[in-house]
Amino acid sequence: MKKIAILGSTGSIGTSTLEVVRRYPDRFQAVGLAARSSLGVLEQQIKLFKPSVVAVYDEQSALELKKKGLPVEVLTGLDGLVQVATMAEADAVVSAIVGSSGLIPTYEAVKAGKTVALANKESLVMAGELILEAAKQSGAHLLPVDSEHSAIFQCLNGAGKNRVKKVILTASGGPFLNKTLEELEHVTVQAALNHPTWSMGRKITIDSATLMNKALEVIEARWLFDVRAEQIEVLIHPQSIVHSMVEFVDGTIIAQMSLPDMQGPICYALSYPDRFDNVLPSLDLSSIGNLHFQKPDFKKYPSLALAYRCVSAGGTLSSVLNAANEVAVDAFLNEKIPFLSIYQVVTDVMDAHTLSECSDMATVMEAAQWARKTAMEAIERIASPNTLNF
Ligand code: NAD
Ligand code: MG
Repeated sequence: MKKIAILGSTGSIGTSTLEVVRRYPDRFQAVGLAARSSLGVLEQQIKLFKPSVVAVYDEQSALELKKKGLPVEVLTGLDGLVQVATMAEADAVVSAIVGSSGLIPTYEAVKAGKTVALANKESLVMAGELILEAAKQSGAHLLPVDSEHSAIFQCLNGAGKNRVKKVILTASGGPFLNKTLEELEHVTVQAALNHPTWSMGRKITIDSATLMNKALEVIEARWLFDVRAEQIEVLIHPQSIVHSMVEFVDGTIIAQMSLPDMQGPICYALSYPDRFDNVLPSLDLSSIGNLHFQKPDFKKYPSLALAYRCVSAGGTLSSVLNAANEVAVDAFLNEKIPFLSIYQVVTDVMDAHTLSECSDMATVMEAAQWARKTAMEAIERIASPNTLNF
């Protein structure tokens, strides 16, 4: 029986993880849960899965939950998240909080030597170097949940780094694959939230439309697989059946395929090195017929070039990209800026940044905080362009 703590239990990955726990009751037990608020969903989860501890980041919501008198210890704030992330009872921690809020709990889980099933790619983007160093020190295992990285991990199957020519990350291309750059100027929030193949949280869905999600995944791959920028390729594959591939030095490519359902990579990370029966329905390739691949258009999706810039530069630049993107996506979701301004905000903030080494977590957080503030200023300028003219 593997005991699991789930950070971000009320989200898309969190609920899929609990679905895996429900389907394999002899294998998994959810002992800790954490979320920002979402009390309705959380209360149901507590009743169904009976964790011993739950952290609700928002204090007011935590108080409300306590008043319900459920048989569970209720914690709050960042301390509460960290307590769940490091709880002695848990063998594995699923890191599925969205965005930079996931960084510290993930880092602490790694420092505590847990097996971390990592969905929160933003933490590796911000502080990959520090997280990997901490894992080395503590003996923690990082197992990817992101479908592309799970695929690469499965294709590698323990092969040595010197046998890998490159990793090929596939991307669905999102809802705007067939739109021109001009058409992207006027896309609505609703259209951007309408992903063709995956059902996910709002932030990652917008990131998929801008291809910033793939950009973050390029940086994530750099850390997880210790590859150089020129060893990471992105390929558009609209069907989302091939989840990624590895090309080896002999010219052989191994690809991993399945139906697009996150229960696959979640269960693999939790059952590794085993595979469980019937996690996903069989893939019927004859009914799919064709698998299509094409090169991404770097002009239409400037996020990809920004990612390669981060991988080459190292240091605090990717923490800055991540923070600026979070602020810009939020502004787009709140209809403060148009879709294409997301790129403009992130690029402007990156251009204005003075690079530092990622020597410690304080440096990473400081860079992110600076980027957030600078992004907000950029957004104000875009949202009210006339103010500068007075
Ligand atoms: P989501 O928006 O559906 O859920 C986010 C979860 O994080 C919720 O449970 C929310 O309560 C929690 N959360 C947010 N802020 C918090 C805070 N300050 N403290 C505590 N909890 C907080 O997001 P999602 O789609 O499940 O994505 C989660 C992570 O997994 C992201 O990093 C995303 O990039 C990654 N990921 C998601 C998918 C997917 O299919 N959804 C695939 C690959 C990777
Ligand atoms: Mg992915």
